[in-house]
Amino acid sequence: MAMIGIDLGTTNSLVCVYRSGKAELIPNEIGTFKTSSAVCVMPDGSVLVGAAARERLITYPKDTAASFKVWMGTERTFRLGNKQFKPEELSALVLRQLKQDAQRYLGEPVEEAVISVPAYFNDDQRCATKFAAQLAGLEVRRLINEPSAAALYHRYRSAGGDCQMMIIDFGGGTLDVSIVECFENIIEITAIAGDNHLGGDDIDRAIVACFCDTNGLTAERLEPSVLASLYRKAEAAKIALSAADSAEINIRQGETSFRLTLTRELLRKLCDPLFQRVRTVISQAMKNRERSGRIDDVILVGGSSQLSVLGDFLEELFGRRPTVAAGPDEIVALGAGLCAGIRERAEELQDLVMTDVCPFSLGVATYNGPRDQNPHMAFLIQRSSILPASHSENFYTLHDNQDALRFRIYQGEGYFASENLKLGELEIRVPPDLAGKQYAAVTFTYDIDGILHVSARSSGGDYRDKLILNPHVHLTEAEHAQALERMKQIRLSAQGTQKEQLLLEKALRLYQQTFGSRREFAAGLIEYIRTGMENDSRIARERMCREVQEQLAELESEAEHDPVEWNFGAEDGSEESGPDE
Ligand code: ADP
Ligand code: MG
Repeated sequence: MAMIGIDLGTTNSLVCVYRSGKAELIPNEIGTFKTSSAVCVMPDGSVLVGAAARERLITYPKDTAASFKVWMGTERTFRLGNKQFKPEELSALVLRQLKQDAQRYLGEPVEEAVISVPAYFNDDQRCATKFAAQLAGLEVRRLINEPSAAALYHRYRSAGGDCQMMIIDFGGGTLDVSIVECFENIIEITAIAGDNHLGGDDIDRAIVACFCDTNGLTAERLEPSVLASLYRKAEAAKIALSAADSAEINIRQGETSFRLTLTRELLRKLCDPLFQRVRTVISQAMKNRERSGRIDDVILVGGSSQLSVLGDFLEELFGRRPTVAAGPDEIVALGAGLCAGIRERAEELQDLVMTDVCPFSLGVATYNGPRDQNPHMAFLIQRSSILPASHSENFYTLHDNQDALRFRIYQGEGYFASENLKLGELEIRVPPDLAGKQYAAVTFTYDIDGILHVSARSSGGDYRDKLILNPHVHLTEAEHAQALERMKQIRLSAQGTQKEQLLLEKALRLYQQTFGSRREFAAGLIEYIRTGMENDSRIARERMCREVQEQLAELESEAEHDPVEWNFGAEDGSEESGPDE
């Protein structure tokens, strides 16, 4: 039974296995390594995951969800069709798909995984990720920080001399910066800092906002499908700018068409407030490390690392252009796969050692005296401590005859407890006595997954290690069983193969986005695919796919250059009109 490594990304997820002495990315059914982290509920109640679901973000935005990772561990729910989902359930569906792809590829059952998470994920988000895996039928053998996975693989691949490097992982929704010290075969993560709400998605949002501003449009007033399409255009223009100097974005409302020319200067201007936040995170990481010393190399990973304006910005900041890692959006998955290899004790990886640090400080709320109303933090584990970390401290009673001590456990850097994230509570009995006589020894252990364990022993001999945790993330056993049952009920859409589904969804989207003869052509393709999917011959179906794939690609590229793409809110049936230039 194989163990897999998974990069469960905000935008894209990848799965990797370590075998025959190397980390190997596993392709999905449509033949790509990246699986879109998108989920859609179909009219028959079944669920579609991946690229085909991503297409439906535009055609059926109300039934589709993406970027749900940034909501992991929160109360936010998603309504898709007539079903309600928690972010961890949506992540579980992505994980289930990846697991299925891995099983098909490896030809054996897969039940264990190493999953990467943003270094800055807090305890709630980590627990939610573990829960998502459980829902998908995967046991998590290790949660590895994404930048640590990247560092691990980068080091493994390019085995240089002893050095200090900075890894910047800039993805779709999160930014992680870590400082890594490499000494022989030891890779030590010495500091991390990050922002869980900063990524390529924010850049797309800034472009969309600018587009709307320039054209006197209000984003919220656009039809959801048009808005989703505008986002896609904005993203495409952003990506195009990594190679070209400018890119066009066009939409049309009724008789009027709107446009924006995105130049590098404009993109840089739009990115600037976001880049200032990148800068803050970088300097935080520098401050978080214990030892100073030269950073020999800055390595960029993550999809957004390919932004040339980011390279420009960092070059100004560091006085030297950072290196974009080879395969920047695959390296985290490869690192997770390598980590799975280490966990499985692959011979040749025996001497590769990696240590990680905790990104947050952890402690309990404590009072200065009986009249103190606003408790401050007593930290048991400081941020940047090497994992696993463990520390104990004694806390004394404040009142005469006090018979219990209650500990509120927090994660964060604020002086006052109320500024930090509350993780849970623990109450322990002490023998009634004079104030300050009795106490409890509290022990915090932060494991290598970045998950906290708390226990307490009182001077009266009481012992507790059951935390009362965030009720949203930590379910009771009954709720747990219920969630598993609910997940079992969800069927993956079985309409044709995934490749066929993707082609069909793409054709449906292009139908929505085009006009006139192109639209008719799309309609013809839709019918052709639908009929083709009913054919019993595998060969005939494969042939159909190949043919349609080419035609769709052509149609898509034509539509890209078409200034008139959508027609919404038109009352005079002007849908028939062709390009207006
Ligand atoms: P995540 O880890 O968050 O799932 P990825 O690392 O796959 O995300 O990065 C996805 C982000 O990278 C998206 O915002 C996407 O627009 C952006 N991206 C992908 N390719 C490029 C490119 N060539 N230039 C700029 N941005 C890119
Ligand atoms: Mg990523």
